[in-house]
Amino acid sequence: MKNQKDIKCSFCGRDKSETLVLIAGITGHICDQCISQAQTIVQEEMSEKLKHTISSQMNLLKPLEIKKFLDQYVIGQDDAKKVLSVAVYNHYKRLAPKTKKQNDVELEKSNIIMVGETGTGKTLLARSIAKLINVPFCIADATVLTEAGYVGEDVESILTRLLQAADYDVAAAERGIVYIDEIDKIARKGDNPSITRDVSGEGVQQALLKLLEGSQVNVPPQGGRKHPEQKMISINTSNILFICGGAFDGIDKKIARRLQAQAIGYAAAKDADDIDKNNYLQYISPQDLKSFGLIPELIGRLPVITFLNPLDKDVLRRILTEPKNALIKQYEKLFEMEEITLNIEKSVFNFIVEKAMEFKLGARGLRSICELIMLDFMYEAPSDKGVKDITITLAYAKSKLDKASINKLKVAS
Ligand code: ADP
Repeated sequence: MKNQKDIKCSFCGRDKSETLVLIAGITGHICDQCISQAQTIVQEEMSEKLKHTISSQMNLLKPLEIKKFLDQYVIGQDDAKKVLSVAVYNHYKRLAPKTKKQNDVELEKSNIIMVGETGTGKTLLARSIAKLINVPFCIADATVLTEAGYVGEDVESILTRLLQAADYDVAAAERGIVYIDEIDKIARKGDNPSITRDVSGEGVQQALLKLLEGSQVNVPPQGGRKHPEQKMISINTSNILFICGGAFDGIDKKIARRLQAQAIGYAAAKDADDIDKNNYLQYISPQDLKSFGLIPELIGRLPVITFLNPLDKDVLRRILTEPKNALIKQYEKLFEMEEITLNIEKSVFNFIVEKAMEFKLGARGLRSICELIMLDFMYEAPSDKGVKDITITLAYAKSKLDKASINKLKVAS
């Protein structure tokens, strides 16, 4: 056996006394500093390898395949999925090295705007795309943006987030995708006389324009205005794909009005009959966005418009069990980790969906309802070693979801 004094790190040669921890292997030793250095190297190598594999896979993915991928996570919404699949595919094509023949044609990017009620899957679509792609991706919320100089965040903060997602690799960030949520909240509030200065409306739209149209933007790497001393990083946004989403509450009425106006006259009467009055969003056009309060310049920079359908009972029912990480699958997994089999009567699924519809809670409500039903089991089962399986019956679900608890959900939503 070696003298304790002679023990050294086999990698850097430090004595035991110079290290905090020295771990013994079969034929050598490694110190804490070498471990942490090795870990950094492993992480870097792994992320490089991962980038390569994903990027080579991505090159093979055609729009049809991108949509198939999205189908695993998002139920329905075929129009939005198709539009996004094509946009993401084209985004990759624009980034690919150009051949001689293509050199004279500049492929312009097509930023996208998605219109759909809240909770219909806009963010989920954006997030699912993020899972698939190998470019930096971030989600930003338009509600917090204000014009420069006012309380709130400058639009550049969006790019700070993208830069962070890219690990401060500027070239990577310049090829990224940004999802801007709640874009409708920065609509011009022109008809409200009490607002003298529209700091969170038109001014922000003007500021966003600069990002969307592709320009060189100075970005504070730490974000915010808390670090005035930080050195700005310049980012070119011409190759960044922007996807915007918003509920545009009340826009259906504007669409209906426009369609009615168009349908006046004998020739148009037949077309008017073809209009699906239950879902006006499918007829959305740039004009409607303008009458909602988006400025024409901004609309011009969002040339691809798509919509999401409201969720009906059938879709909600499928959302409960079908997506790759469906709610019910998640609960099954949670109990499985306690070695408990979870059985849920089919009628319970319908009951959950009915309640979500009845109280207008949408897909987000499914989770809160499930939590109410599962809570007691999740609380007690882990301590009760005798339990091997649990069955949720309709009567049990009903008893957990009495009026009081539903009212609580309504307040929370
Ligand atoms: P929003 O349109 O407001 O961005 P989200 O994408 O955040 O809505 O949807 C809220 C939640 O509802 C999601 O996390 C998801 O669990 C569920 N959901 C909504 N729409 C769908 C859908 N079409 N398919 C599967 N899950 C959905």
